Parts: sequence; structure tokens; C-alpha cells
Amino acid sequence: MRFSFGKCFPLIVILATSINAVTSLTWAKTLNEAEIKTIEQLKQTALNTDLSYQILESLTTEVGHRRLGTEGDKKAIKWAVAKMKSLGFDKVWTEEVESPQWLRGDIEAQIKAPYPHDMAAIGLGGTVGTPAEGITAPVIEFKTFDDLKAAEKGSLAGKIAFVSYRMQAAIDGSGYGRAVSARGNGASVAAEKGALAFIMRSVGTDNNRSAHTGMMRYKDNIHKIPAAALANPDADILVNALKRDQPVDFYLKITAQHYPKNMIKSASVIGEITGSERPDEIVALGAHLDSWDVGTGAMDDGMGIGIVLATGAEIAKLPTQPKRTIRVILYAGEEVGFYGTKKYMELHKNEIDKHVIGAEWDFGLGKIYQITPGVGAKALNNIHELAQLLTPLGVAMSDKNDAIAQSDMSLLSKAGMPSVNFGADGMRYFDYHHTANDTLDKIDPEDYQQNTAVYMMFAYFAAQSDVDFRK
Ligand code: ZN
Ligand code: ZN
Repeated sequence: MRFSFGKCFPLIVILATSINAVTSLTWAKTLNEAEIKTIEQLKQTALNTDLSYQILESLTTEVGHRRLGTEGDKKAIKWAVAKMKSLGFDKVWTEEVESPQWLRGDIEAQIKAPYPHDMAAIGLGGTVGTPAEGITAPVIEFKTFDDLKAAEKGSLAGKIAFVSYRMQAAIDGSGYGRAVSARGNGASVAAEKGALAFIMRSVGTDNNRSAHTGMMRYKDNIHKIPAAALANPDADILVNALKRDQPVDFYLKITAQHYPKNMIKSASVIGEITGSERPDEIVALGAHLDSWDVGTGAMDDGMGIGIVLATGAEIAKLPTQPKRTIRVILYAGEEVGFYGTKKYMELHKNEIDKHVIGAEWDFGLGKIYQITPGVGAKALNNIHELAQLLTPLGVAMSDKNDAIAQSDMSLLSKAGMPSVNFGADGMRYFDYHHTANDTLDKIDPEDYQQNTAVYMMFAYFAAQSDVDFRK
């Protein structure tokens, strides 16, 4: 993708040849013939049935959106416990978390003058409200977050700061990192410069009048100002109005409320298919149970939930369970601050070394095209064997061995758990991410079957093997 193919071709040939030599020598070490047959059967099951899609349809229909602590979140916890039990997980439990309450309230955003327009906008997660009468003030545009950071202290007194940077689409979602820091910290930086409010172009790659929310935080000891994102077309209108070299007055009203003393409860939901020979060794599969409070959280992270639940369910149906335990973790409160995973790290600190390998699913919309391991040098040979099994599905082995598992599970990776990252095509993911458009219709059932097949094969491969992925 990023390297020049022409230049690297001879090297690729040499590498491919040596990889084949290694894998044929070590083939018998990971799985035997019968086990390879089972893995191929699991693949066919995933490709010819639609259990993950049925689970996702159930979640998006019966539960819908589920921001931490909301009614939807409570429904999601009950749904997940019941679903795991009905799918054949033999142990199911919850791990409670709590967080201070935040209510989104409503938003109104308008260009007041010189060219009045109603704006499609959404409050960022965790924003404070405006005064009851709203804020009306001139807008100062910054093309990037760095430009805002470079503004002089006090220079935005009485103004609304606006970052107009547009996120670029990329198959691996790499444009997100460059765009999202403004969402997290823009309000605090704008407040340091004296701004009354912070607005930004949505972190998204679409052209819909559908704004993208997402979490923001206030630095300690800083005046808290309201923060909102504009839909891409609305940000364009504002940019064009500002091009005309005259002051542009903007009106923003947000009725969000914080209740720091009102602790709301949620829970991660965890289920296991207990291993038949080494039950204390864990192959961990993760997704997050919560979503934003718009859309139905179909992609983020309903897709992950469907994949990891279907993986457990199909493996539970095998006549003999794999040697190691498969633990499926549906984390609470990922969107609003990694609540579930932080709690998990605390509760399971004495068994981190029992997590033999793990993977989360929390990104992508198309097919999985790449596997990137983060394992020991010796175990890399075994991962090459897995990659060979995945080749017919269009999955190529990355030349890197530094994977940190996605989202919640990155904490386990950083604590030493070997990890695998599956790269799913995310070119269109940020068209819908954190918007009211994150709904079931965006998911292509065939691509989803392929994703499910990859996770099923990985889970069985890791749980049935004796490999120490740390070595
Ligand atoms: Zn997510
Ligand atoms: Zn998200």
C-alpha cells in the first residue's frame, strides 16, 4: 500500500520463498491434519451461514444505541448475558463499572450573519452546556489543530474557535489519528486562548449532513467551554462564509448537563468456552458493548460483537472443545473512557500471563485484507501457518510483528499479552462512524461472513495449539 511494489519485488520473492520453507518445516507443530480439517469446516460454516449477522440484527433491532449508563446500555447488558447463554457459552458473568452521569441534551447551531444558515451539528461527548440563551460570537477559523495551538493566549477572547481540518479516508483508517486530537483536546486549547466555545469539522469522511460525535476531555484547572462538531457540508458553508473577509457570527446553544456526583452503573459482559485440556489458558476475543447515542452502533461496535459471539458459538458446537479456553469480552464504556477494560485489568491482574493471545474487532467495514501479529520470534512461524490458512480469504501477512490489539484490548497487549490485529477495509468506515447513520444497512453480509470466518479460524487455531505465543 505505502511501499513501491516495483522496488521491493525481488525482496518479496526471496521472503516468500523463505517463509514457505519455514512453514512447511513447522507445519505439523501447530495443528494436525484433523485439526486443519476442523478449521476448514469452521471457515465453511462462517461463509455459508449468517450467525454473526443474525446476532448483529438482533442487537440493532432489540437494543439499538447504548451509551454507558443509558437505558440502551442496561438493555444491552441483559441482551448480551442472555445471548451468550443461548449461544452455548458455558460460563457467563458481568464486571461492573461506574461513571459520573452526563446528559447530552439538545443542540442548536446557526450562522447568524452575514449569511444565515441552520447548521447540522452535534455536541461532543462530555461537553458542558452553553448559557440558557446560547452563545453568539464571531468565528475564527484554524485550518489545523496545530494552528489553533499556535494562536496567542487571549487572542480568542469573545470568539468561537473553529478547526476546519478535513479527515482523509484511508483503507487502514490512518486519517483518524491526524483528525481526532482536535476532538479530544480542542476545547481546552481554545479555552486557554480565551475562546467562548469550540466548534470543529466532524471527524468523518462523508458528505452527509450528519455530524460525528465522539469523546472530548477538559484539562484540569481550565475554564470549560462547550464543544460541538459540524457535519462536513455545514463546515464547508462556514468555511465559504469566512472566505469573504467579513466577520461571521455564529450561534450555539447546547443543553448538556454534568452530574459528577450521580454515579451511573454499567458492566462488561464476559463469556467462555472452557478449554478441554488447558482451561486456565485463555485466548481472548474482544469487542465493546457500548456505542454512541446516535444510530444503532451497528458498525461501532455491533460488528465486533456479532463476530466474537458467533466465533464462540460455532466453536462451542464442535464435538470436542479446543484445548484452551476461549474468552469473549464485551467491554463496557469504551467510547467514554475505557471503563470496562480498565476494570478488567484491575480484576484480572494476576492472570495476565494466562492470556496466551488476543484480538479485538473494532474497525472496518469491508473484507479483512491483512493479519499483523505481535508475538515472539519463534511463534511468528506459527502465525505464518495461520496466515497461509487465511490466504484463500484474501488475507495477507504483514511484514511487521508489532501489533497492539485494537481499542480496549490494547491494555492487555501493553501488559504483555501476545496479540494479532486483523486489518479490515475501513475506506468507508468513517463515513458513518459515531453518526446517526451507523445502522445495519451499511454492513455487507458477504464481507461480514469473511470477517467472521477469519476470527473463527484464528480463535480455533490459537486455542487448539500448544504454542507459547510469547516466545
Ligand atoms: Zn469502537
Ligand atoms: Zn467509537
